[in-house]
Amino acid sequence: MGTATAGEKKFGLAIHGGAGTITRANLSGEKEAAIRSDLGEALDAGYRILHDGGSSLDAVQAAITVLEDSPRFNAGHGAVYTNTETHELDASLMDGNSLSAGAVAAASTVRNPILLARKIMDESVHVMLSGAGADEFAGQMGLELVDNDYFNTEFRFNQLKAAQARSDASSMADPLQFESKFGTVGAVALDRHGNLAAGTSTGGTTNKRFGRIGDSPIIGAGTYADNRSCAVSATGHGEYFIRHAVAHEICARTRLAGESLEAAADHVVRKELVEAGGSGGVIAIDRQGHVTMPFNTEGMYRGLRMSDGRMSIAIYKD
Ligand code: ASP
Repeated sequence: MGTATAGEKKFGLAIHGGAGTITRANLSGEKEAAIRSDLGEALDAGYRILHDGGSSLDAVQAAITVLEDSPRFNAGHGAVYTNTETHELDASLMDGNSLSAGAVAAASTVRNPILLARKIMDESVHVMLSGAGADEFAGQMGLELVDNDYFNTEFRFNQLKAAQARSDASSMADPLQFESKFGTVGAVALDRHGNLAAGTSTGGTTNKRFGRIGDSPIIGAGTYADNRSCAVSATGHGEYFIRHAVAHEICARTRLAGESLEAAADHVVRKELVEAGGSGGVIAIDRQGHVTMPFNTEGMYRGLRMSDGRMSIAIYKD
């Protein structure tokens, strides 16, 4: 797979694996290498599709599926635990060409929630399905179903126990009060046809209760794509991302206020969210192939691969 030559349409993708207190001091060399390898595999899976003329939607889906299957991210296998030691998965996907979208909230048995979001978009008249109904639809669509304990990992279980030890179980304590690392995954892509797409997948927040749903499956908050502006996938403290309609806000600033992608994303992530107290970050791409990945935390797992040769995988601020 080479890079595109001059005059050819630019294409490529960017991915994230969550933002938070990710520093060299708290990430072992071994874990860092494994995470970088997962991110590389996800970028390759998406890039291959784009290189061969496939759609940005397919590329986003392929990249996210790789990360959902890795135990190292808070999505699919490796998702965080709810307060009752189960997993409830959220995901969404959007096509910037048609503004079609699919989203799933609180599914518990579909192995790859991003594939279900795609089915909801392509095969149903709805945008969002939730809970048992979403799992039932996944079964009808022939998607792989698993027992909820397929999503178990020891690392996330220990995280739950630590969170529960710190919070008062009888209160409505903010589940994110003590959470400093978000492992949600997402991808944004531009294909050879000039179409944008975005997708996001997560287990939500550790120790969540009462059917809590964050920004990731909400179109306009955690995910948005519109060929007239840009494609965005977010990660962070979901309640703030919902209130600020982060993904849509960034796209709207580029489309309506004429801001560059970088300026728009920077304003929302590093000014608006910071002022409000919402931590996290986004990845964004536009039709010209600009990519920006701002975050207001110590680090964000991220990477990009573009047809003009740009390629990077990064974790920390510097
Ligand atoms: N945004 C996600 C949520 O609030 C969490 C994350 O990004 O890890 O559910």
